[in-house]
Amino acid sequence: MPIRSAAHSGLDDTRLSLRPGDALVVVDVQRDFLPGGALGVPDGDRVVPALNRCIALFGRLKLPVVFTRDWHPADHCSFRAQGGPWPPHCVAGSDGAAFAAGLTVPDDASIVSKATTAQADAYSGFQRTGLGELLRGLGCKRLFIGGLATDYCVLATVRDAIGEGFAAVVLRDAIRAVNVHPGDGERAERDMAEAGAELVGTDLLAGDAA
Ligand SMILES: [Zn+2]
Repeated sequence: MPIRSAAHSGLDDTRLSLRPGDALVVVDVQRDFLPGGALGVPDGDRVVPALNRCIALFGRLKLPVVFTRDWHPADHCSFRAQGGPWPPHCVAGSDGAAFAAGLTVPDDASIVSKATTAQADAYSGFQRTGLGELLRGLGCKRLFIGGLATDYCVLATVRDAIGEGFAAVVLRDAIRAVNVHPGDGERAERDMAEAGAELVGTDLLAGDAA
């Protein structure tokens, strides 16, 4: 599996230079998905510092940053009261649906809301959101993807990104898994690599190239 990290290699030539056509996609870093939230991901808050570093880097390079968010009606089909698998979470406009308190959301970032109707759920940020068109309109070709959770919305977003023709780079230290079944997160990482994604540590991202 092609996983690289400067911490492991110690080599400068493994660094990933960002370039025009790159974009950062931050998946569902919302309060309900953090520890203590309605659907808390273990260590979910740990993705925030790594993502903030990436957000700052992409901002400095004037590369697009897109945030996806779960944005459900109160009677959403994924909630247990409606026969779904999850407790109520990320109800549109609620505190739990807000982005993590420490997450940097730049004024010029794009925010994409998903699963906004009662009848349909969406793990992927590309599902009925127009995200693909948005990114193509911005000239994006390669997406750097991090957020929550590895084994659900990150996995689905990465698969769809590749399906829509984007190159996908998964920010391995900026994702965390739910692990409903032990090993789900590791399986998801393997699935993403097999689908063609590259998995890298955020320490490899470099903005010094032309
Ligand atoms: Zn949801």
